[in-house]
Amino acid sequence: MAGIFCFGGKPAGSSMTLRGKSVEIVREVDACRAMIARLRAAGGPVALVPTMGALHAGHMSLITRARAMGAKVAASIFVNPKQFGPQEDFGRYPRQEASDRELLDLAGCDLLFAPAPDTIYPPGFATNIAVGTIGDTLEGAHRPGHFDGVTTVVCKLFNIIQPDIALFGEKDWQQLAIIRRMTTDLDLPIKIVGVPTMRDRDGLALSSRNNYLSTAERTAAAALPQALLRAAAAIRGGESPDRILAAESTRLIDAGFASMDYFTLADAQTLVPLPILDRPARLLIAARIGTTRLIDNIAVSAP
Ligand code: AMP
Repeated sequence: MAGIFCFGGKPAGSSMTLRGKSVEIVREVDACRAMIARLRAAGGPVALVPTMGALHAGHMSLITRARAMGAKVAASIFVNPKQFGPQEDFGRYPRQEASDRELLDLAGCDLLFAPAPDTIYPPGFATNIAVGTIGDTLEGAHRPGHFDGVTTVVCKLFNIIQPDIALFGEKDWQQLAIIRRMTTDLDLPIKIVGVPTMRDRDGLALSSRNNYLSTAERTAAAALPQALLRAAAAIRGGESPDRILAAESTRLIDAGFASMDYFTLADAQTLVPLPILDRPARLLIAARIGTTRLIDNIAVSAP
C-alpha cells in the first residue's frame, strides 16, 4: 500500500548540491519582467512555481521537477490575502523569507518574485477570476471565495511572468484541477504540471501548516494519510465508499481529530462526488486537529 505514496523524510535540499550563486530576488513587476527576459535570452523554457513561502521539501520537489524539464525556474512567494477568509490564518501564516531564500539557492532556483501586497493589489484593484462550480465544492464550500483568490493571483502571476510551464502540487488537488480548468478556458499558453505529494516518513503530507501542530498533534496527524490509504484500498476492492468513509471518519475522531469538513470520493477531474467507483477518482479530505486544518488526497483508480 505504501508504494502509492511518495515519502520524503529527508530535510529539504539534503540531496542537492550548493550552487555558487544566490537566487535573484525582485519585488516589482517591471523588475520581474526584466529578469524573466534575461532568463529567456539565456535559452530554454521558463517555469513558474507559485508559493506562499515557509518552504519545505514539497515546494523543492516542484523546483527540482522544473529544472529536470530543462527550464529556468522562477518561484514566487506571496501570502495572498484574497485567498484567506476573515476567520482564517492570514495573520499568523509563517513568513520566513531568509530561510526560504536559502532553500531556493540550494534547489537551484533562478529567480524569486516576492512582491508586497500593494504591488499585486494596488489601490483600485477590482477584478476577480472565478472558475465556476468546480471552485464551489469541497474546499470552496468550506472556504467561500478561497479559489477566486487563488485563481485571481495565479492569473496575475501568469501575466507578469508569462511562463511556458507552471508547476503545482497534487497535495492541493482541487487547486490543481481549477488551475487546469482556468488555463484551458482562457487559452493561456502555459503547460500545467502536477507534482506528486511529498510526505514525511509517517505519511503526513508536508505542509507549511504542519508548523502549527503540537508534538502530540503531529504524532496523531499520521492517522490522516493512513485513513486515506485504507479507504482507497477498500474502495478499490469493491467496498461501498459511504460505508468505508464513515468508518474511517470514526477512526480519525478516535485518533484525536476534532472534526472533518469533508471526506469524499470524487471524479478526479471535475470533482463531482461519486457514490461508486466507476472512473478515475480521488479521495479528498479536510480535517481539523486542535486548531489546525489539514487537507490531503489520494488517487483511487477503478479495479
Ligand atoms: P503553498 O505555499 O502551500 O501555496 O504551496 C505552493 C505549491 O506547493 C502548491 O502548488 C502546493 O500544492 C505545493 N505543495 C505544497 N505542499 C506540497 C507537498 N507536500 N508536496 C508537493 N507539493 C506541495
